[in-house]
Amino acid sequence: MTASPKPDVTVVGAGPTGALAALLLARRGYRVNVFEFRDDPRVQVAKPKQAKEGSLLGDAVASLAKVADAAKRSINLTLSHRGISGLARAGLDEAALQLAVPVRGRMIHDREGNIKLQPYDPDPERVMYSIGRETINSWLLDQLSEHEADGRVQLFFGHKVVRVRPDGSADFERRSDGKTHSTPPAKLLGCDGTFSKVRTEMSRCSRLSISLDYIEHGYKELAISPAADGRHKMPAEGLHIWPGSEVMLIALPNGNGSFTCTIFGDFTFLESLKTEESVRRFFADTWPDTLELMPDLPQQYLRNPNAALSTVRCSPWHLNGNLLLLGDAAHGVVPFYGQGMNCAFEDCLLFDQAREADADDWGTALPTFSAERKRATDALAELAIDNYVEMRDKTVSRSFLLKCWLHESLHGLLGERWQPSLHSAVTFTSLPYNEARATCEWQDAMLVRAGCAIGAVAIGTGALAAMRGLAR
Ligand SMILES: Cc1cc2nc3c(=O)[nH]c(=O)nc-3n(C[C@H](O)[C@H](O)[C@H](O)COP(=O)(O)OP(=O)(O)OC[C@H]3O[C@@H](n4cnc5c(N)ncnc54)[C@H](O)[C@@H]3O)c2cc1C
Repeated sequence: MTASPKPDVTVVGAGPTGALAALLLARRGYRVNVFEFRDDPRVQVAKPKQAKEGSLLGDAVASLAKVADAAKRSINLTLSHRGISGLARAGLDEAALQLAVPVRGRMIHDREGNIKLQPYDPDPERVMYSIGRETINSWLLDQLSEHEADGRVQLFFGHKVVRVRPDGSADFERRSDGKTHSTPPAKLLGCDGTFSKVRTEMSRCSRLSISLDYIEHGYKELAISPAADGRHKMPAEGLHIWPGSEVMLIALPNGNGSFTCTIFGDFTFLESLKTEESVRRFFADTWPDTLELMPDLPQQYLRNPNAALSTVRCSPWHLNGNLLLLGDAAHGVVPFYGQGMNCAFEDCLLFDQAREADADDWGTALPTFSAERKRATDALAELAIDNYVEMRDKTVSRSFLLKCWLHESLHGLLGERWQPSLHSAVTFTSLPYNEARATCEWQDAMLVRAGCAIGAVAIGTGALAAMRGLAR
């Protein structure tokens, strides 16, 4: 009996998730058509000033540049175990890490400008990697383009999905001429991010429930440029954190000597700093060393936009054995655990494994994959919100540091049977997020019980000694 031919696959969205998902499919012999709303991020977009402002051409070029800028605005990311495992499935892990800067802990800044490293894990080999979103995205697209030559992959940029049907056929609006390009029935992956149009279309023809919850806090990006000699102005081996009770600033190193910083805070607060003087005063009072690192901080602050943060939940992620949502389209999370892309790459790995286990029977693989995965990503959504409080407030709290020390000591004694921290379990293992959380909650409870038992014994011993003293 000959194996039935593999169906064609349409991938919507060529962000990190769509690019890796398409690569894994192409490597398994599928023919994949990838449609992306934006222009190819690898192609330089002409600056608006090259065309006369106000002219039709000038406006078109300006709008193209805006689209590209909006994409580039997006940050550098920490790549860790789960993301690396997804890349390894495509044989790309080692090459990808060449593009990244290793970070091995939190670098906590105090008001006096002192910096203290809190390693992420007692094992110095367990590190995260800082990488630009555009860098990894463009590099994955390069890998995907290699399959264009053998006809396995076709990339369509400037194509926006406008209609998706349950049989996997879809309509795309081509930005260059506004014409519609329709694709025939196929398997279709919705990798089109937080505001997924594929998800909306699926909900039109099925009982797909969707929630998108904004948090009160938002973020703004800032940049620390390299020192005059081209090197980093601060140690590049960590994620720098300037903690605060209401706001927090972080900085991740880039390979070119710069740092990308992100200030997180209540939207009302972020918007309340409206003049260079108010910005300068806030940073001078809160984190004085930042003004030395970024002499143009007030100008950057006023120039760069504030962006919102949200959590996406939806269910089910699949329809008819034909359609599936992956990455942020299925489960966008706030960025405080640095897991959004890692989780999306792990989606790609687990979906690839599920298809392999089910002999490429999508009808079976889609429900199994989604049901298990959703439990994990629901847990991640909560963990990501909780970690904001940890990064903002607890990294300097004595009880938090004592708890970390106790867990690390037990990990030293018991090895892999005791996780050194929830952060390690989330960042450096493949335990499903819900299991990582359950394990660490159990460990915390054990620690509290042990503490209570030791306290009770100490009180009992003290009381006994006192009674003996009285009896004498
Ligand atoms: C401030 C911040 C910090 C972060 N830090 C980290 C981190 O340290 N580590 C980490 O792992 N993650 C991090 N993340 C999360 C990470 O950026 C996302 O999880 C990741 O980009 C998701 O990839 P995606 O491909 O699913 O979605 P996206 O990156 O949103 O890509 C979706 C793609 O689909 C395209 N598209 C959208 N609509 C359409 C349409 N109608 N038709 C066709 N194409 C369409 C878009 O143009 C885009 O290219 C962070 C996020 C933020 C905001």
